[in-house]
Amino acid sequence: MLTKGDLTSADLRELRQDALGAADPLGVAAELVAAVDAGRLADPQDAGLALVLAAEIAESRSKLDAALRYVDRAVEAYATRDDSEAGAARALRARILFRAGREDEAMAALEPLRPLLGQHPDAAAYLSAALAVGGRHLVAEEWLSEAVQEALAERTAEPRNPEDAGLLFFLLQQRHRIRHAIGRQHDAHDNLAERLESKLAQAGSGADAAADELLFFPQAEFARLVALTDAFGADWDEHRARLERELVRTPGKALLTASVDGLTRFAGKDGDLADPKTQAGYAKGLTARISWPPERNGACWCGSGNKYKKCCLPRSR
Ligand SMILES: [Zn+2]
Ligand SMILES: [Zn+2]
Repeated sequence: MLTKGDLTSADLRELRQDALGAADPLGVAAELVAAVDAGRLADPQDAGLALVLAAEIAESRSKLDAALRYVDRAVEAYATRDDSEAGAARALRARILFRAGREDEAMAALEPLRPLLGQHPDAAAYLSAALAVGGRHLVAEEWLSEAVQEALAERTAEPRNPEDAGLLFFLLQQRHRIRHAIGRQHDAHDNLAERLESKLAQAGSGADAAADELLFFPQAEFARLVALTDAFGADWDEHRARLERELVRTPGKALLTASVDGLTRFAGKDGDLADPKTQAGYAKGLTARISWPPERNGACWCGSGNKYKKCCLPRSR
């Protein structure tokens, strides 16, 4: 399952998505820990992430002793860090402690994390998940309500959309969810959460309709293109990185081989190659669809001749 070489951050993220469905998830967890112990991580900073992943796998199989061992080591690996990833590891430890029936320790681990609600957008999700596992919905509601009040107090106007709301959006969303779980009636903040959530749904469907096709220019084509426009990236690496990221985010999109002559012909004499409408119109006539993703050890989709795992896969970072 795991590669022989060093594990990159992208490998770990991919494993996170695949491991729970793997035939032998606990074997994957043990291999992750072995990779940490043997120093087989491309970036030693990823030790915490690899151990978190192992802990999540063990937790999902109710192997709580192993999960606690792994998560303790993960928290240790994050000891000097104070970012969202470190907070998530600590919250995971509390969640596993709850599952193991060690409730006081779980709460003692969670309380110092409470200020993260005002700092990291994803803290609302991982803290309320841990509290919910421990049956502490009322505590979660209290923490989230207070964080919502504080975030609102810093504003002069009600947020118009999720981007405008920023961190507040994630607080409102989790608070709304927790309050539904315990059967609360909607209040003004729940109404605001729902308005923002529906805005997000609309924006999502609009963005998808705008670009269901992605244009890929092979290296020689890109060298000609970049003299005309930088709308597809400043260089070929950036071009490939953008596409890889977009495909990871929305895997259903079609990746189409484009040519400079084709695009300029479609755009017409004074046409704008950077115009999304021009690009979408040109894409509609293309049929050379590249299959994505390739096998990790297979040839990369970009045609570089390198293995996918050594070429465009890590570009999605
Ligand atoms: Zn609701
Ligand atoms: Zn590539």
